[in-house]
Amino acid sequence: MNVVIVGIGLIGGSLARDLRSHYPEISIYGIDASDAHLKEAIELELIDGIASAKELAEADVLYISIPVDAIVHELPKLLDAINDDTLVIDAGSTKSEICRRIINHKRRRNFLASHPIAGTEFSGPSAAISGLFEGKTNIICEVEKTAFKLQERALSIFSRLGMRIRYMNPEAHDKHIAYVSHLSHISSFMLGKTVIEKEKNERDIFDMAGSGFESTVRLAKSSPAMWTPIFEQNKENVVETLDEYIQNLEDFKQKLLDDNFEGIYNEMDNTNKIKAILKGIPQNNKDR
Ligand code: NAP
Repeated sequence: MNVVIVGIGLIGGSLARDLRSHYPEISIYGIDASDAHLKEAIELELIDGIASAKELAEADVLYISIPVDAIVHELPKLLDAINDDTLVIDAGSTKSEICRRIINHKRRRNFLASHPIAGTEFSGPSAAISGLFEGKTNIICEVEKTAFKLQERALSIFSRLGMRIRYMNPEAHDKHIAYVSHLSHISSFMLGKTVIEKEKNERDIFDMAGSGFESTVRLAKSSPAMWTPIFEQNKENVVETLDEYIQNLEDFKQKLLDDNFEGIYNEMDNTNKIKAILKGIPQNNKDR
């Protein structure tokens, strides 16, 4: 199988690692805006070399794992460069704008819109890990718009990698993901900001920060280059989730001011049911 990966960072590099272990005969070529990442990806044996027009034209699978604004920009051109039998898959964390962008492209049926719910807060080829996709959910949008035989090729690859498939329309994907992923990132970034600002005056605050702080603020290590376009593309849904979150914070604060500790107890007790909801999610599943 000939594969070209556009964006050989955390997601593209992890895919390369898993493809190599499941398809020993595979050839994988890469395209990336960063020469340093391409060099590193070759050194790490994620890719066999840099893809030229020839590798693009001969690809059985083209996997696009670059920031979502770059996907919107590059996807039509990449569809122009492939052959009629190439399967093109994207990994973008938003889906509506990407799907809209190529709705009328002559090779729309070569494209499968997907979002693997797998990742970490780290970036670049050195962050790529084996087995990242094992047991994780892969959300596929508008599957009916992909040619049937290319759907089958994609499902066979996802199945070998151990992924579970969920089908959703792009609008539902973006609405749901705003709650479970995008809001978590904003909340983590703003918690980090609040503590960093306080730390200017109270140097030893970090000495007191236990694992609770560390795990809650983990997502604030994520790349602004990846997350800014995600928030831009999903602005409407993200604003809606923020309104609800801010209201909950205000209510919590008011209960404290009112000495309503029974109300505070009940809020936390009700929210404890998150334990049951999240039971069964693999421990290494990160919230993307
Ligand atoms: P990453 O580690 O930063 O890798 C992205 C790579 O693409 C970088 O090497 C970047 O180079 C390069 N790039 C940027 N613009 C490009 C362009 N126009 N053409 C070619 N290469 C370009 O990012 P990632 O975490 O793998 O994320 C990739 C995609 O997967 C994003 O769409 C993201 O929404 C999605 N996703 C991420 C996660 C996650 O947990 N990280 C999970 C699921 C889905 P520079 O660094 O020089 O810009």
